[in-house]
This record gives sequence, C-alpha cells and structure tokens, in this order.
Amino acid sequence: MAKTQGFMQALRCRECGRTYDLEARHVCEFDFGPLEVVYDYDRAKKSLTRQALASRPHSMWRYRELLPVAGEPTVGLQVGFTPLVRADRLARKLGIRELWIKNDAVNYPTLSFKDRVVSVALSRARELGFDVVACASTGNLANSVAANAASAGMKAFVFIPSDLEQGKVINSLVYGANVISIKGHYDEVNRLCAEIAGKYHWAFVNVNMRPYYAEGSKSQGFEIVEQLGWRIPRHTVVPMASGSLLTKIQKSYQEAVKIGLVEDGEYSVHGAQATGCSPISAAYKAGLDFFKPVKPNTIAKSLAIGTPADGFYALKVFKETGGAAEDVTDDEIREGIKLLAETEGIFSETAGGVTVGCAKKLIASGKIPADDSAVLCITGNGLKTLDAVAGHVGQTREIRPSLREFDALVEKEAQMISR
Ligand SMILES: *Cc1c(COP(=O)(O)O)cnc(C)c1O
Ligand SMILES: [Zn+2]
Repeated sequence: MAKTQGFMQALRCRECGRTYDLEARHVCEFDFGPLEVVYDYDRAKKSLTRQALASRPHSMWRYRELLPVAGEPTVGLQVGFTPLVRADRLARKLGIRELWIKNDAVNYPTLSFKDRVVSVALSRARELGFDVVACASTGNLANSVAANAASAGMKAFVFIPSDLEQGKVINSLVYGANVISIKGHYDEVNRLCAEIAGKYHWAFVNVNMRPYYAEGSKSQGFEIVEQLGWRIPRHTVVPMASGSLLTKIQKSYQEAVKIGLVEDGEYSVHGAQATGCSPISAAYKAGLDFFKPVKPNTIAKSLAIGTPADGFYALKVFKETGGAAEDVTDDEIREGIKLLAETEGIFSETAGGVTVGCAKKLIASGKIPADDSAVLCITGNGLKTLDAVAGHVGQTREIRPSLREFDALVEKEAQMISR
C-alpha cells in the first residue's frame, strides 16, 4: 500500500485499480491505464465544510483538502475564484430560462483556466524535488507554465506546435521560458514530450505530472457549486481538448456530494468541440464508446487535440450524466465570440466561441431544455486570439478631429447613434 501524503492516499489506475506511490508517474505498468489521485474523503469531510470555507481566501486553494499537494501550496496562491456571472441577455438570445458564465477568461495570472492545473502541478513538482518544469501545449498551458515558473523561480521548457497564434507565442516568451516550436501538430508535440520526459528528469505537467495536474481542474467545478449558493447546475457546458477539464468537472460535482457540501441531484455535463477537430463529439454522435483520431483543422487552436487523452472518459461522462456533445464550424465559433461579447461584455478566445456556439445548438435541439438552467465554462481570453476574429468584428470609422466631420458621419450612418 502506498504511503499517504496529506489528504492523498495513493495513485490508482482507472482501469484495473492497482495503486502506486504518489510519485511523478501517470500510467499503469500493467495496462497503461491513466492514474488518478485517491483521497481520504472521511478526513477531508471533517475540515472542508461550508462553515470553514466561509473564512478562507478567495482562491482555488480554498478547496485544498481535495487538491493533490501534501503540504501547503507554494505556486499560484492567487489562482481561481473567477466570477460566475448571471447572463440574462445571452440567455434571451439562446432561448433558455437561466444562464451563467463561469469566467476563467480573467483567471490569474495568464487569463485561462490552465492557471488552475499549473498551480497544482508546479506546487506538486516542487514537493517532489523538481526544479525544471515543462509541458506540451496548445498555447494556454505554455503561457501558464512560463508565467508560474517565472514567479516560482523554476526553469521552464514549453513545447508548442509551430502554427500557434502570435499572442500565445509572445505570452510564453515574455516570461523567459525556453519555447520550443515543433513543426507538427499537437499530437506530435505530445508524443515527442513523452519521449523527452522519459529521458530528462523534468516535471512535465501534462505528462508525468498529469494525475496531479488534472486534479486542478476540479476547482472550477467546486467554485461553480459554491457560487451558485451550494447547488450543482442542472446543465454545464464544457469545451474539450483532451477532455480532461470535462471529466474533472463531473468529478468535482461527485466529490462535493460525497463530502456533504451539496445535496445530490440530477445534472448533465455537456462537451463542446470545434468541427475541425471533433473526435469526441463525432464519436458521441455516432454512438461509439471510442473516438477515432483526427488531424486538426480549426481556428480553435487551444482545443486542437486530435488524439484526446481523456476522450474515452469524456464519452463515459455523457453516458453517466445524460450529457451530450456538439461541435461548431469556424464561422459559428466567431459568431459565438461576438454573441458573448455583445450580450455580456466578455471577450473570450476561440474556445469560448466553441462553448457558446455548442450551447446554442444544445438548447435549440432540446438536449438542454429551454426551461432549465445552465452554466457555460468560458476558459480563455480573447486578447490572445485576435487573429481569429480580425476582419470579422466590424471596422473603425476614421475622421479628422473636427465636429463637422463627425456630424457628417452621424448623418450618413443614422443607425450608428440609435441605441
Ligand atoms: C486547454 C484548454 C481547454 C480544455 O482542455 P482539456 O485538455 O480538455 O482539459 C479548454 N479551453 C481552453 C481555452 C484551453 O486552453
Ligand atoms: Zn491498470
């Protein structure tokens, strides 16, 4: 039996249940099943109560009993507790009674949900004695590893596909990380990183540190439940790349019930992908338990994973919760970005356009009934993917600094001043 550390008891294979020590290890030796952290829920239950939470700081670490560090976290102490926004104007447009936006586009410090998984992975990497951290990234993870490593004084290597948005590349370089651009798509980057992780003794946050890393995503679900006044939303729509965030949202709801923070009830977790990289959505629609790998071709580069590591488990989540998967085209992604911005004043990256666009389809098809309530997980910031919407959001009107020219413009464009 593995030695317990803090509230963690062991790593356990999701397939065969074999347990392992709490090391930097991510697959089972026997069946290559993914390993997952096991907690002492009886102990966690005693200290992680609604009453205790009332006096804890507003960050993701308020749920530390169910986050995989042995001692106190040391990296990313301010991450999380992003706003949950009531979105009545968007609700009317989508035709649903009640709608909320979980806005990780303003997460600290790098404006995406990835700061959650990175603060966990880096805190744990430190505990395990690593001083070099690394990742295979579709962009946001690279930004977050670079920034959090900088503030923690750790050395970072981030590996990205070479066709990434400028905004995401610069957002990694500025922190002084070693940015390795791979001439290939994400799945090739990931494969190379698995080889590098085997040879160099680095903490690859989403390779050998993946069991710890992935747990960080649960904090988004815990926050949703708490911010709704201790209630699990009837529907949650989650964007999917590897499918990890989606599976951990379900896990957070299950754990919140298990330790008595909320009452059990019916809830569905739905997944959103870009049609240009939709292996999970395609499998769901075909009624399959397994996905077929695809070659990504979409403006939603943060979601462009053709061989999703947690795709199989995401498909299980739909079965278990009555959720569904949807996908949207590049044009629908841009429409989703604009709709969210124009109705709620929130500028999301392409992944947010995917979530809004898919939610629209799920509501229209009745998979999310119009008289229900839903939370949309907005996971990244639009300022990083300006290229995707440039030329699609209207144009500025340029005039000289003259009142006469402005008057003329108003006359010419009467609708400009109508509110
Ligand atoms: C990484 C990412 C996701 C989803 O990632 P998973 O691999 O499915 O956990 C969603 N949105 C954004 C913006 C991301 O960067
Ligand atoms: Zn196993």
